[in-house]
Amino acid sequence: MWGFDSPLSQKPPPELRDMRFLLLLAFFLCSCSRGAEVLYERSFHVMGSKVELKFYSPNEELFLAVTEASRKRMEEIDRLFSNYRDDSVLAEVNGYAGVRPVTVPPEFIRLTRLSTGYSELTDGAFDVTVGGLYELWKEKTSSGTIPSPAEIERALECTGYHKVGTDAERSRIFFASDCLRLDFGAVGKGYAVDEIMAVARKNGITRGLVNFGGSVFAMGSPEGARSWNVRVSGPGGVFVSSLEIRDRGAATSGGYERYFEHGGRRYSHVIDPRTGRPAENVALVTAISRTAAGADVFSTAVSVLGAEAARAFAESDEFLGFVVVERNGEKKSYFGASLFPKR
Ligand code: AMP
Ligand code: MG
Repeated sequence: MWGFDSPLSQKPPPELRDMRFLLLLAFFLCSCSRGAEVLYERSFHVMGSKVELKFYSPNEELFLAVTEASRKRMEEIDRLFSNYRDDSVLAEVNGYAGVRPVTVPPEFIRLTRLSTGYSELTDGAFDVTVGGLYELWKEKTSSGTIPSPAEIERALECTGYHKVGTDAERSRIFFASDCLRLDFGAVGKGYAVDEIMAVARKNGITRGLVNFGGSVFAMGSPEGARSWNVRVSGPGGVFVSSLEIRDRGAATSGGYERYFEHGGRRYSHVIDPRTGRPAENVALVTAISRTAAGADVFSTAVSVLGAEAARAFAESDEFLGFVVVERNGEKKSYFGASLFPKR
């Protein structure tokens, strides 16, 4: 018969007490082994760069599954946005969007809109339509010359993020110029890193560091520390700075890792969309932002605009930070109010 006494006021018989102890012990052991995460590391190559993954995971199977899913995601991104493949969606868009609207996967519209939004935010210093100018400089310098002022002028007329139209409802894209060329080179790596982080989060991973050719995201913090330590190096691997970041993206632009060369001179592969010429303002810029894509964009934009722009960006957004190395070697740091880096 059911009574009304509080169960707490009743003492269980001794055999039940033992059982409760065993159950508690089992629960404790179970939760301990769930909490014991191990740091696993793997790297693979995609889009001509190395992807380095470091994730804390409760077991290796999960880590390997996340690595495999990340690799697949990178391949999808490559098929969409690569400017090194003739069969990418980007190649089709660049070939036809000035002639007729081109139907593309929704993700293509999303990154295009994100990019034109960043172009707006950086006042065109980051311009996702710089492809024609970039190709012109690449072609000319690799055949031992540089573009003429008339060629630069023509390529400038093909450039301008305002000339890109997107129709999200019909998933179509069109250009108001038949010579405009989209180029995701300054945002794509950061975007890819953010997408790897999304894959990891979806699988329950909460701590890790991903580096894709200089575009980084630090999620959570490593065991026993408050943040991840990210080393920034300049030409020849020279130490520039050490950043302590947590739940932030970072990216470095310049540093002559990639450059055009002509007449014994090295030209930055970042083009100043105002002049159509390689940016000459600074030697190297590292940016920190809320996302790896944001850091990628702002490092490129400050390469174009110079250190004073880094100060202004950091003052206007508490989550933005910059380490700028001027061409004379002088190092300057500007950090938004909520960033506390180790210098
Ligand atoms: P990053 O290394 O992130 O600065 O990106 C440089 C790459 O982005 C170049 O190789 C070009 O493909 C492209 N790019 C060059 N200049 C610009 C610019 N001003 N805005 C957007 N993309 C650019
Ligand atoms: Mg960039």
